[in-house]
Amino acid sequence: MSFTHLECSRPCGAPALDPRTRHHLCRCGAPLFARYDLAALRSWTRESLRDREPTLWRYRELLPVFPGDTPISLGEGYTPLLHAPRLGAELGLSALFVKDESLNPTNSFKARGQSTAITRARALGATTVSVPTAGNAGCAMAAYAAAAGLDARVFMPRDVKRAFVEECTLLGASVELVDGLITDAGRIAAQRGAPLGWYDVSTLKEPYRLEGKKTMAFELAEQLGWRWPDVVIYPTGGGTGLIGMWKGFQELEDIGWVAPGQRPRMISVQADGCAPIVAAFADGRDTAAPVTDAHTIADGLRVPSAVGDFLMLRAIRDSGGTALSVSDEAMIDGMRRMGRLEGISAAPEGGATLAALDALVASGQVDRDELVVLFNTGGALKYLEVLSTSSVSE
Ligand SMILES: *Cc1c(COP(=O)(O)O)cnc(C)c1O
Repeated sequence: MSFTHLECSRPCGAPALDPRTRHHLCRCGAPLFARYDLAALRSWTRESLRDREPTLWRYRELLPVFPGDTPISLGEGYTPLLHAPRLGAELGLSALFVKDESLNPTNSFKARGQSTAITRARALGATTVSVPTAGNAGCAMAAYAAAAGLDARVFMPRDVKRAFVEECTLLGASVELVDGLITDAGRIAAQRGAPLGWYDVSTLKEPYRLEGKKTMAFELAEQLGWRWPDVVIYPTGGGTGLIGMWKGFQELEDIGWVAPGQRPRMISVQADGCAPIVAAFADGRDTAAPVTDAHTIADGLRVPSAVGDFLMLRAIRDSGGTALSVSDEAMIDGMRRMGRLEGISAAPEGGATLAALDALVASGQVDRDELVVLFNTGGALKYLEVLSTSSVSE
């Protein structure tokens, strides 16, 4: 194992931190990144993966564990990268793929981050973990906390879809519904938890969820024969998927598994009703202004401000990518086409990536022969009311 230390993601010059004690944000307020002895890992071979478990723990050399730690795993990661020829034909693309994250425990890619975060929380001696969430992160945390024998406290907006509340409860978490958005839930969670020493796993306010998310980059490389796609289209809220993959690209290049200089263009997709990163990208700013009155059917995209905004913007720009928003109606249309043409059960966030691709193809920003990967970050079933209310034919 090669996990060595934590450091500021900015970086602000603060000294490295010892990961054997609890840390949340850097003293400057920026997220912390886990760092590894990458030079030593140059002797780790791709062939060693051959006999490993089909979960994200197959990459354990690049995950935040120490000898003697037991990963908390429910079979997360190593999701299929599905060729989507019928959807591709509709769009005139020859190499369109969907990374289907709905097949993770609790139906979303959030399982990846909670597997690594709860593994660390338990190793650090936490007994109660808490999270403010727009939905899926709470379900995933509840599942991993249950598997680890920890108490789970979930804080979500009162108007969240019912399936999220029911699933968290089913998985043994106590749920508090909060007036407002995920940012308000975060404030209440911190108020309740700080005096009691709860371990807070808010997006990017602890360093380890990101480590689970970065394995999406590792899987892309492994599934494509150790190269990157040309374009990655990702629905972004708090930004851990995008930022995590960007970190993962760097690490695999640094250990020599993928040749440098060929990273994908990273496309961030947001909702018209909540698009802080799109606005900041268009204005050439390094950070994003908070959105007021954020609204969208895609709960995972209803994030009015994100502590990792500058990291998202940096990754999008460094990759030569872009950021765009789509309407709720276009997301639902995207869900329907993924379902009808490819048999994929997509969350609105997944549908949003297809809606974005429509726009990028129409404007010539994606070429016919490019290898494009859409991330279906969750499944449709927790969002059924979105389908039934908007489109039953009369
Ligand atoms: C949380 C979530 C997102 C956004 O995730 P980030 O990577 O944190 O921006 C997208 N889709 C779904 C289904 C989600 O639950």
